[in-house]
Amino acid sequence: ENKDQKFVYDFTEGNKDLKDLLGGKGANLAEMTNLGLPVPPGFTITTEACKVYLDSGHEPTALRDEVSAHLEALEGRMGKKLGQADDPLLVSVRSGAKFSMPGMMDTVLNIGLSDASVTGLAQQAGDERFAWDSYRRLIQMFGKTVLGVDGDLFEEALEEAKEAKKVTVDTDLEAGDLKKLVKHFKKIVKTEAGRDFPQDPREQMDLAIKAVFDSWNGDRAKLYRRQERIPHDLGTAVNVCSMVFGNLGPDSGTGVAFTRDPASGHQGVYGDYLQNAQGEDVVAGIRNTVALAELESIDKKSYDQLMQIMETLENHYKDLCDIEFTIERGKLWMLQTRVGKRTAGAAFRIATQLVDQGLIDEAEALQRVNGAQLAQLMFPRFDEKAAVEQIGRGIAASPGAAVGKAVFDSYTAVKWSRSGEKVILIRRETNPDDLDGMIAAEGILTSRGGKTSHAAVVARGMGKTCVCGAEELEVDTKRRRMTLPGGQVVEEGDVVSIDGSSGKVYLGEVPVVPSPVVEYFEGRMHAGADDADELVAAVHRIMAYADRRRRLRVRANADNAEDALRARRFGAQGIGLCRTEHMFLGERRSMVEKLILADHEEERAEALEELLPLQRADFIELFEAMDGLPVTVRLLDPPLHEFLPDITELSVRVALAEARKDHNENDLRLLQAVHRLHEQNPMLGLRGVRLGLVIPGLFTMQVRAIAEAAAHRIEAKGDPRAEIMIPLVGTVQELEIVREEAEQVIAEVRRQTGVELKLALGTMIELPRAALTAGQIAEAAQFFSFGTNDLTQTVWGFSRDDVEASFFTAYLEKGIFGVSPFETIDKDGVGSLVRNAVEAGRATRPDLKLGVCGEHGGDPESVHFFHEVGLDYVSCSPFRIPVARLEAGRAAA
Ligand code: PEP
Ligand code: MG
Repeated sequence: ENKDQKFVYDFTEGNKDLKDLLGGKGANLAEMTNLGLPVPPGFTITTEACKVYLDSGHEPTALRDEVSAHLEALEGRMGKKLGQADDPLLVSVRSGAKFSMPGMMDTVLNIGLSDASVTGLAQQAGDERFAWDSYRRLIQMFGKTVLGVDGDLFEEALEEAKEAKKVTVDTDLEAGDLKKLVKHFKKIVKTEAGRDFPQDPREQMDLAIKAVFDSWNGDRAKLYRRQERIPHDLGTAVNVCSMVFGNLGPDSGTGVAFTRDPASGHQGVYGDYLQNAQGEDVVAGIRNTVALAELESIDKKSYDQLMQIMETLENHYKDLCDIEFTIERGKLWMLQTRVGKRTAGAAFRIATQLVDQGLIDEAEALQRVNGAQLAQLMFPRFDEKAAVEQIGRGIAASPGAAVGKAVFDSYTAVKWSRSGEKVILIRRETNPDDLDGMIAAEGILTSRGGKTSHAAVVARGMGKTCVCGAEELEVDTKRRRMTLPGGQVVEEGDVVSIDGSSGKVYLGEVPVVPSPVVEYFEGRMHAGADDADELVAAVHRIMAYADRRRRLRVRANADNAEDALRARRFGAQGIGLCRTEHMFLGERRSMVEKLILADHEEERAEALEELLPLQRADFIELFEAMDGLPVTVRLLDPPLHEFLPDITELSVRVALAEARKDHNENDLRLLQAVHRLHEQNPMLGLRGVRLGLVIPGLFTMQVRAIAEAAAHRIEAKGDPRAEIMIPLVGTVQELEIVREEAEQVIAEVRRQTGVELKLALGTMIELPRAALTAGQIAEAAQFFSFGTNDLTQTVWGFSRDDVEASFFTAYLEKGIFGVSPFETIDKDGVGSLVRNAVEAGRATRPDLKLGVCGEHGGDPESVHFFHEVGLDYVSCSPFRIPVARLEAGRAAA
């Protein structure tokens, strides 16, 4: 606690850039005040004061005096004192963190009312009913949020009062009824909180301020911060604001408004208004609101002023704003504004609209959207027009639209999906035992847990649709059913649909339509065409802004012509990783077996001879699809046992055959080979360059196939740009040996075909030793491609195949990291190795080409990092290419 620290700011002292200190609400109230808009006077207690309180358990010593000084100033301005008996100043106390946060204490209104001042208020307002209603609201809110009394008790008492009077709406209670209700409320407080409702207005205010501080650490607030990755040490500000009343009669009211439609971005009048009501009535939906446009006929003067203010705010914030306002006896007051939340689609539309209006430039437009939103727009979606019953809503944990039969255990999920059924796995929560079921299911639905629950984390990792924490659905796994709030039951086998982008759950099959944005990227829809909607046009423009600015090139991880062509349509500027292992599967497996089982040189040569033309044909197709653009072909990487039968299955087969005295020589040899190749840690075993060095002829066959394919394409007047990449190199010596052999082969192909071949040869940097000795390795490599999957695995010592399903949930929950390091690059650890390797590599070879082809290449945050460390390109799966292009543009803007 610093002696000179200022803990309280009058609304006239702050501005919108002080969100860290004043919270979002406080900073914007100050900004509006300074714009000369009608904001009820007040002051903000800083997040710093909250932090001192949370750290030490008591408010900063200076706070009380500072609050007193600001309160006095406020009283001076308003010409009345807080809680003054004959004419009370009343204030609201509201929380306001940097990020808006459900689960925190929201608001206590009408502070300053007491047994004494309630009559003063009645006189001043000329409305006894209003005064007593305000008082009962204060006791109710204060009792609940500050003193921790169960809110239902007040609600029940209110219901009783209405029943006694035989009325149904609150407004039919008269002053006398409300007086009785206040008495009843005070009794509830006394019994439940063990103290009287405080009559001293300053005590009311101080307790409310403390309650706001305390609410920062409420369970729901903490959970929300964990889910949204908001740091726990920011603290909240507290806003003390003089009260204005929307419930003083028909010439008063309250409402919310948007400066444009948060769903479409269209400009116009959007919002709701409720006559003769206080803000909480709107939120609670107690009475029906009217469309904001109707305010024009109710109170033209206030309406015109509000429209004027909305324009001022949009021009000032240069963005969509949302607003809360109150009209007190014909006078308009602004209670809150902020840059408004919007859907992913609206974000793109609004950004381009604002460019057209000249409010922001292209670079700023790029900052108004992000890759996660674009990815969201690329998922297939449910047809919104379909009439299907929504039965619940949970947390949108992993996007997508999934339809299937309800199953309540993993065993059934696997069994049904094997017989061709689509299933949705429904669990209360999932655990590692559910993994098989999650893999088998189209989507996962849970009734418990948030964005970092096991189900959410694993589903996102698998790219599976997931809705979690749909609490109103009661899941009964024993009886294989779930019960809806209305008592309706969904049985095993009933079809359900889940929307991982909105969290909505439906009973029955919702038809799925392809995303228009994907149709556009696929070239099936053109931005200028009649049927293209505004969204597609906006995406088209934003992508152009990004492409004009980005320095990073974007390539695809693709290993067949189909993927390569799609990647090209999506804007790929080449292939950054062609994994050749898939080319060894299917019917070619027997040739690989032959290669592995070969006892002598001739047999091995024969097997390679058979594989060569097949590989060559693969590459010809690929080079053709990517004609004119670089294609990085990686030589075989995985351990050989992956191409052999499963050890257990094979053992059983051999044992059964033995029992039948049916001797199968080949199976026996196979089993021996499987045993010979078996490794405890295959990921750290005979794979990558090690294979090339140990299995004679394997890599040279692949290099020959690449060279011959390139020669073939050149003869066909094509423009192949092949690059040969060696995986899992740890030391320059490995690379030198492979390189020498490769160069010989290439020279041979050149001689044989007479075609002048230019093939670049480089390596992956995916082991810590490679990164640490990058300066040496660059002597033998024309390019580096960072394999951040293996690099993350080896730097952390995390098995990339196991950890996300085993202990990562616990790690995320404990906040050890906010996101899996396999998803977003670990800048401090893995990232610093990348940074050093970039520098060392370029120091050796200034024209070294640098890229990344691990999963991180398509992750928004990681793309920014790769831009920053100066890579030349990122490479990612075809579907992530637009996201990578956008983020590369944002990084450069
Ligand atoms: C990597 O390790 O990052 C990589 C791209 O290679 P793979 O995922 O095939 O091991
Ligand atoms: Mg790898």
